[in-house]
Amino acid sequence: MSAISEPIVGTFQHAASSRIDTAKLCLDLDSDQIIVSDHLSDGVLQRQSYSSCSMSSRLPGVPMALSFGDGASFTPADPDFSWPNSSKSSSFIYWLERKWLYGLLAIGLMIGFLTGMVKVAIPFAAVQVASVVPMTISQEMGQQSLSLLDQLYFEESELESDTMAQVQGNWDVLLKRLELPQEHYQLQFRSWHLGPNAMALADGTVVVTDSIVELMQDDLHLLDAILLHEIGHVEHRHSLQAVIRTTVTTVLYAIIFGDIEGAGEVVLGAGVGLVDLSFSREMEREADQFAYQHLLEIDRSSKDFAMALRKLKSAYPVTDSDDKKDWNYLQSHPDIDQRIEARPH
Ligand SMILES: [Zn+2]
Repeated sequence: MSAISEPIVGTFQHAASSRIDTAKLCLDLDSDQIIVSDHLSDGVLQRQSYSSCSMSSRLPGVPMALSFGDGASFTPADPDFSWPNSSKSSSFIYWLERKWLYGLLAIGLMIGFLTGMVKVAIPFAAVQVASVVPMTISQEMGQQSLSLLDQLYFEESELESDTMAQVQGNWDVLLKRLELPQEHYQLQFRSWHLGPNAMALADGTVVVTDSIVELMQDDLHLLDAILLHEIGHVEHRHSLQAVIRTTVTTVLYAIIFGDIEGAGEVVLGAGVGLVDLSFSREMEREADQFAYQHLLEIDRSSKDFAMALRKLKSAYPVTDSDDKKDWNYLQSHPDIDQRIEARPH
């Protein structure tokens, strides 16, 4: 098969002149030769090697001109004409620009892919991965997040030692009755200026703030219900799942949008994500169900958890302070009324 093309019809712009003639161009790829001749007289206007020519960018509806380096150029009459071996990237952009419908479709597919990954695939994978993470890693993560929280937010507890002993005693009874290994769980007391809160860390540490203990001091079995909710987070390995989700999602976005530095910061800062504050609603529901079920198992009423939630709700006045809003128990545990409703009757 010959590599000599059919004559390409177009216009020839003479070098150093405003003169334009209709012309035809013959291209022989084998010998890398171009001959431009006058359309009418057949007189040769330009003879040159094809590889020494340059092409204008590919734009939809605009013919792609071939420049000869001396100021002369040939523009094909057909705006869709594509020069053989023209650069792949420009033809790809051309293709994208021309096929904008495909472009839109590609964007739609990308959004669908990302949504599927972030909402379904990553959470699913996080559950699987979290269930096989060795104990030593979750211990390390839990200890790191506690020391981070100690540095950033917590103060030493100022609770009376009697009160602490009482709560600790209740905690020990809970673990025993649920037949949970005592060595996998630790209760920690901390003072926190942002109010009543409890949080579960990856290693089985559950932190209660002084104010949540004080809030339920007259009715400590209500605090047990909150502790059961936190134990539920530990049993379901929610902290690990949350960290895996955040990390993988961030890395995915970084790969797609090219912000690797930002991803690094999030991965390094993942310790903060270990606290109860970043659990998804699904995780909260699971921890609630754990609390409700196990209250019944230890012959307590599931009303205890509902009442504890109501107490927490009443302890938080509506506030405009962003600081308090971001960190309060209701922010991390939303929809309290719905959750009370979810109580098995
Ligand atoms: Zn929770």
